[in-house]
Amino acid sequence: MNSADAARTRRGLEAMGFCPTRDPLQADVLVLITCVVRQSAEDKVIGHLSSLKNVKKHTPAALIIVMGCFVGDAAVLQERFPHVDAFVQPSDTDTLLNFVKDRSAAAAFIAEPTQPRQRPVTALVPISEGCDHHCTYCIVTLRRGPQRSRPLPDIVTETQQWVNMGARQVTLLGQNVDAYGQDWSSAGPDLADVLQAVHEIDGLWRIRFLTSHPGDMSARVIDTVAALPRVCPHFELPVQSGDNTVLKRMGRNYTVESYRALIAEIRERVPGCSVATDVIVGFPGETPDQFRATYDLLQQLRFDAVHIAKYSPRPATAAAKLEDDVPAEEKERRRALLEALQTRIAGEINAALLNRGLEVLTEGRRRRRWMGRTVTNKIVFFEDSADRRGQLVNVRVFWAGPWSLVGEPEDGTAPQCRNESPATSEP
Ligand code: SAH
Repeated sequence: MNSADAARTRRGLEAMGFCPTRDPLQADVLVLITCVVRQSAEDKVIGHLSSLKNVKKHTPAALIIVMGCFVGDAAVLQERFPHVDAFVQPSDTDTLLNFVKDRSAAAAFIAEPTQPRQRPVTALVPISEGCDHHCTYCIVTLRRGPQRSRPLPDIVTETQQWVNMGARQVTLLGQNVDAYGQDWSSAGPDLADVLQAVHEIDGLWRIRFLTSHPGDMSARVIDTVAALPRVCPHFELPVQSGDNTVLKRMGRNYTVESYRALIAEIRERVPGCSVATDVIVGFPGETPDQFRATYDLLQQLRFDAVHIAKYSPRPATAAAKLEDDVPAEEKERRRALLEALQTRIAGEINAALLNRGLEVLTEGRRRRRWMGRTVTNKIVFFEDSADRRGQLVNVRVFWAGPWSLVGEPEDGTAPQCRNESPATSEP
């Protein structure tokens, strides 16, 4: 979501005549887009903010703007960080751009022509903002407010704009992307309708969506993923814990049993799909046995990827009132155990892809090789002297690790479109 905000902010600033710089001392406008999901993220924000004090001293006319979940009470923050010119709520890019417009007119900035930029290969399109769940550990629902679904035509228009700029893949975003439409006052489109509408767009090869909430995933969405060839067979479904008591205290509205049934249903209806999850270890009161249940669940369900976090108390959340009683060393021990388990499982799952030819959408150069992803979101590296950016390439895998695959392009380029509608011209 923050990356989407950054891209939108950047596009807005470029339209006003600003161009990007890597040197903070050269910047007329500095925007810090912030995350506070865990204390470590918040500490990073505070670190960046204090280093920006020097920038303000060096270039007092530079505008320093802080946007995102760090922005709780703006008045309190203004007092604490007087060198910041504006605090903007998460995703409120309109307010941000208007502020810059007002201030930069007054200061008469010189508008430089924007640099021609590489065409995008992938794009992020928020389809809803905010969240109606009240998971007791989570600050995001407090900072981003209740869920507001975007009108379907706006989503289609923005996706079309990205495709016109050259994007081949779009990721539909929501705090609970599968709860899209649940906030409509009368019956309206759901995520399945969004997937269908976006699927009509010519020249778009891949559609992803994240993150889903297990309590909001519907059979209709699962069947739509199965039916639409350009929707990637990949699900991000945070389970958070493998123990019902802990889930209840987390305010998650599902059980381990219903979660297992959901994963079974997905795997049955979408064969060959990948599933990723999130887990929190060391939630207040988590006993060794309750942790063991999470370990066993990961062992049994064999996810393609697991994002593991150590519980971090967040201000004003319900869980912050509970005693953070799992010691730091024990949280780290539990995290490391899950990581070791998942490293083995992901290694095994990926090893099964050895010698297979996989279709990869090439995103760009990373560490002097081409990097792309499979439809199941596996990262694949390969070497090729030709420019493969933005192309679908069939890659035969000769090395498989837990986090990535390495292969070589097979003879001939992959068909540039995996579906029945005609491929648009390649540059
Ligand atoms: N909508 C997602 C949350 C996205 S935040 C959901 O349904 O849970 C990304 C991940 O950060 C969460 O899945 C959770 O695993 C982790 N997280 C959120 N709050 C946390 C906290 N207070 N401490 C540790 N991890 C946290």
